[in-house]
Amino acid sequence: MNLDSIINFIWSLQEFVTLNSSFDTIIKWFLLYLAFFWVALVIWVAKDAIARSNSIIFHVLVIILNIFLPVFWLMIYLLIRPSRTLLDKYYEDLEFQALTWHDKKFCLKCHAMVEDWFKFCWKCWENLMQTCKKCKKDFSKEYEICPFCGEKHK
Ligand SMILES: [Zn+2]
Ligand SMILES: [Zn+2]
Repeated sequence: MNLDSIINFIWSLQEFVTLNSSFDTIIKWFLLYLAFFWVALVIWVAKDAIARSNSIIFHVLVIILNIFLPVFWLMIYLLIRPSRTLLDKYYEDLEFQALTWHDKKFCLKCHAMVEDWFKFCWKCWENLMQTCKKCKKDFSKEYEICPFCGEKHK
């Protein structure tokens, strides 16, 4: 073995190590990137689940599954998650209440809220119904014609 071959050997060894270590670094960065991505995914899914459900069991289940089966579970989660967030639900319920408010009836005497089918006011005992002169059926005093036979009442 002469000196040249030893130097060559060292060079190639060094080259190998350098190549290997840079390869190692790429792997490390890639893993680090994956880890960040994974953590971000877990956080995103956790926030999303909390926004969409009040159930602690649902939150815990979603988060645990997402930690162990990150991408696979994310796809399933996107399919099964509640379609509306709690905020959406709140606004939709509010809107629905506003729309149905017009359908609410009030006692003509004391203005307590009553249902359409109430025969008497639950608060002041006022009779809320009138009996049709023609067909003898009961209907609300607010109606000017009998909804059953069309007879005029006012
Ligand atoms: Zn009343
Ligand atoms: Zn009638």
